[in-house]
Amino acid sequence: MSRAEPPPPRLSPSVEECRVQTLCLVGSRAVPVEIELRYTGGLMQRIILTGLPGGALREARDRIRGCLDHYGLPAPRRSVLANFAPADLPKVGNAFDLPLAVGILVLTGVIEPSAMQGRAIAGELALDGRLRPIRGGLALALQARQLGFDALLVPAANGPEAQLVQGLRVEAADSLGQALEILAGAPPPAIPAARRDRVTPLDLVDVRGQASARRALEIAAAGRHNLLMNGPPGTGKTMLAQRIVGLLPPLGEETSLAVSALHGLALGGPTVIHTHPPFRAPHHTVTRAGLIGGGNPPRPGEVALAHAGVLFLDEMPEFGRGLLETLRQPIEDKQVRLARSGSPATFPADFQLLAAMNPCPCGYRGHPRRGCTCTPLEVDRYRRRISGPLLDRFDLCVELVAPEAADWSAIGDGEDSATVAARVAAARAHIGESPEAIVPLPREGKVRRRLMRAVSAYSLSGRAVHRLLAVARTIAALEGQATATVEHLDEALSFRTGLMSSD
Ligand SMILES: [Zn+2]
Repeated sequence: MSRAEPPPPRLSPSVEECRVQTLCLVGSRAVPVEIELRYTGGLMQRIILTGLPGGALREARDRIRGCLDHYGLPAPRRSVLANFAPADLPKVGNAFDLPLAVGILVLTGVIEPSAMQGRAIAGELALDGRLRPIRGGLALALQARQLGFDALLVPAANGPEAQLVQGLRVEAADSLGQALEILAGAPPPAIPAARRDRVTPLDLVDVRGQASARRALEIAAAGRHNLLMNGPPGTGKTMLAQRIVGLLPPLGEETSLAVSALHGLALGGPTVIHTHPPFRAPHHTVTRAGLIGGGNPPRPGEVALAHAGVLFLDEMPEFGRGLLETLRQPIEDKQVRLARSGSPATFPADFQLLAAMNPCPCGYRGHPRRGCTCTPLEVDRYRRRISGPLLDRFDLCVELVAPEAADWSAIGDGEDSATVAARVAAARAHIGESPEAIVPLPREGKVRRRLMRAVSAYSLSGRAVHRLLAVARTIAALEGQATATVEHLDEALSFRTGLMSSD
């Protein structure tokens, strides 16, 4: 990293007050923060902060003094009052160093006040003036554009991710010295391209047998349906779930940025650009904060990291009823709200839910060759860990059976992922942009009569009816048809029976 030369002394007269714009992340959104700086009484040359400064911001004063010394820049001749507005928003995070230092340098006449026009500034300083990467650089850039800023000045390490945001001029500096040159009008250094993920999805060709589960996985991929797989250990539930990524279309450009921004927020530094739907498979020992998000500042949990992708819960009952119930709000709202003092933080969490479970605690209930050792009470308790309302969120349920010896030789006989992915892509073209959109109930005809019989036979809820129609529509789309027939509806029903019996 090149160390910038001390900036040339400038001749602009010092000003009495100035304003610098920055952003404060609250969840995945950013609130514009204005730093108002002015000289105040007293010759102590202190920097006084008001407007709920967090611990990192209070320490920023010392880092800024270190940087001014390092460059031989003048310290303010009197005490400086820096007020961060809005006052009721806690100013947490490490990105306020640079805008505060810039504000002080405007006061001391090193930077022209006009350089603050239309520009947001964020970055953490080291004592020697280097700019350290900040958390959520891509999220900040997306929000800076949304808030109407022309330009965003960030640390060099955050430049590659930030410059992917179209319609925003991103300037990246490796040091305070280089930031001063940019603010004085020098052309900013070229920013290297962002790193992209290199995902090689696992292939379906590795899965032996399990035709019914493969079919359910294909339907789930085509319609973004939630899928529950029920079967004894060793039937390939996890293998199948992991292979859904290879069936899903790559992310569109804006979705790719939104997903990458969420992953950057969780990482704490610059992120790679995600081009494939994320697949998140938290272990059942995950904490509540790990699953739905938390902390101060709030970080996204697994549900947000699965946004626009898949959340897979292996051995779902082991997560426990309490943790599973926290999923209902994000599933319903497609975003997760985290309660915190001040403004609530939200993260997008529009994920597809895949889950796997054993039929009983020992796993071998209904197994053709092994005996189950569980009592009926144990089986009942195990299934009750998944509440009726959560079970109702699954559109498809498939029972997997232990493979016969003959299936072992069938490895590689099934279709590969590319073949299935092509059908999924064609079906998506039929279904349109929003697979979750409500499919209208047919007003008359065979499909309606068949549906009505199912409603009374299985006492289906309104939600279940709509999900059933959506699955039937997906099955029709996989055959290149716009509307579902009775056969499509019957297949959709066949994937619901597991959900109804265990309720
Ligand atoms: Zn058992």
